[in-house]
Amino acid sequence: MLGFPVPYPDELLYSVIARAGSYEGITSPKELIEEVFANRTAIASIDLPSHLIELSTHYPDSLGLDAEKLAYRHTLFPLCGAFVPESRRTRILKHLAGRSQGAAHMLCGVASSKVKAIQKLRYCPLCVAKQFELYGEGYWKRSWQIAGVSACSEHGELIQAKLPVRLEHRHQCYMVTPDTCPLVAQSPANWQSLVVSKHAKDLLNSRTSPSPEFAQWTKHYWQLARDFGATKGKHINHALIRECISEYWSDAWLASVGLSIADGQFEWLKSMFRKHRKAFSYLQHIAVMQALHGNKLQIIPVINGVGRLRVVPKQPLRSTANNQDRALLRFYRRRWLRQVIELGTKVARLQGSGAEYAWLYRNDRSWLKRCNRRFRVRFAQVNNRVQWGVRDKSVVRYLIRLRNEKELQLTAPRWTKNRYLTQTRYPATIEKNMHKLPLTQRFLSMYSETVSEYQIRRIAVAISELIVDSGKVKRWKVLKNSGLSRERITEQASAILDWSIKQYGQGKL
Ligand SMILES: [Zn+2]
Repeated sequence: MLGFPVPYPDELLYSVIARAGSYEGITSPKELIEEVFANRTAIASIDLPSHLIELSTHYPDSLGLDAEKLAYRHTLFPLCGAFVPESRRTRILKHLAGRSQGAAHMLCGVASSKVKAIQKLRYCPLCVAKQFELYGEGYWKRSWQIAGVSACSEHGELIQAKLPVRLEHRHQCYMVTPDTCPLVAQSPANWQSLVVSKHAKDLLNSRTSPSPEFAQWTKHYWQLARDFGATKGKHINHALIRECISEYWSDAWLASVGLSIADGQFEWLKSMFRKHRKAFSYLQHIAVMQALHGNKLQIIPVINGVGRLRVVPKQPLRSTANNQDRALLRFYRRRWLRQVIELGTKVARLQGSGAEYAWLYRNDRSWLKRCNRRFRVRFAQVNNRVQWGVRDKSVVRYLIRLRNEKELQLTAPRWTKNRYLTQTRYPATIEKNMHKLPLTQRFLSMYSETVSEYQIRRIAVAISELIVDSGKVKRWKVLKNSGLSRERITEQASAILDWSIKQYGQGKL
């Protein structure tokens, strides 16, 4: 789709798709989804939409709107990304970039969460009025759709939009219009919403990666209870913590967002102060941390601090390692590896990763030695003298192989320069040093697909499918099946289409 709308600040992708439909005059929800995602089965989910790679191909590379950026800036993913372990965070991002089919929601724990989900899209009338003034149109903001927040931090309580359907019927994307979002009076915001909203906005606008592991959260909450005076030896005084949470937020508000801590219902709160075995939602973390830290809480620095906590086991790993030990092994290997890739072995050991080094030295020495040997050499090479000629040849060889392998996948997204680069091992280094890589440069200028070439490929696929299906090739049908329109087709693609219709066509319109 050419001229796909660029998202406004804090705009949901759902909203961008709705605007695209309105600009193009597409009224059928299915047709719009197909046009946007080149796929009929995709769903424009409000909180965690997938197929972000396809979406990102609508934007020029210069905007830098790749799948990850779209996920962090225009979906509700950051609310969960900071609180799931690092390996799961990257898995969810992969699902969002490609096909998800519910996996991202499941891994984020949306379905199993205690937190009450919102039932209808919500808006702030005064913010909408401001949007119309600024941009001449309205759009759905992420910060209006956060479960647990029922108010705009500037103007007052949010209002449920007048939409004919509830959120589960989400094949259709609705625009913000004076009909769906009328300008009505708002009651003042409740203070709990304002507090949660501040932290939720910090989360939405940041990228806390890599995210902390369960062992680190366990340690964090234990320390929090200790600093609050709710520990006795190794025991936690759960009743005291419960009292503090209830006093801070009020039982009624906690129940209204699904986090009741009434008798028999506060197991979730206890489990936050025990060993973490599952991820908790942003709202649970905010509710507990705010009550215990008080008004000085700054959520992002706290999460970053949790990520730096050292968690060293007391017992060395025995040869009969159980599952838990193996998980620990993986945990230390991953952390050490991340550091040595970035800093090299010596600097990593001296600058903050001594504990990981010591643990691996005691429990996993042969792996540590192998790993260090590998990165000592690589680090030295990269820093001293990259042989750009050699690098150039190996990159271009890889790109040629890639092209040969993928050339016949005719329904693939557009092969832009950026798409080729992201398939290589060091895309950022290559891009930065492109002037030293003449062969790679030449490859990219020869084989990156222009908009016309991409349109022609889609036309060819549509024609060949029509010939196989019915033997009848009509111009309007080719345009429809290839997702193109008279307005957006380029001159070159249009000429090829005319020629093809002359060759194979029937019933030319
Ligand atoms: Zn507002």
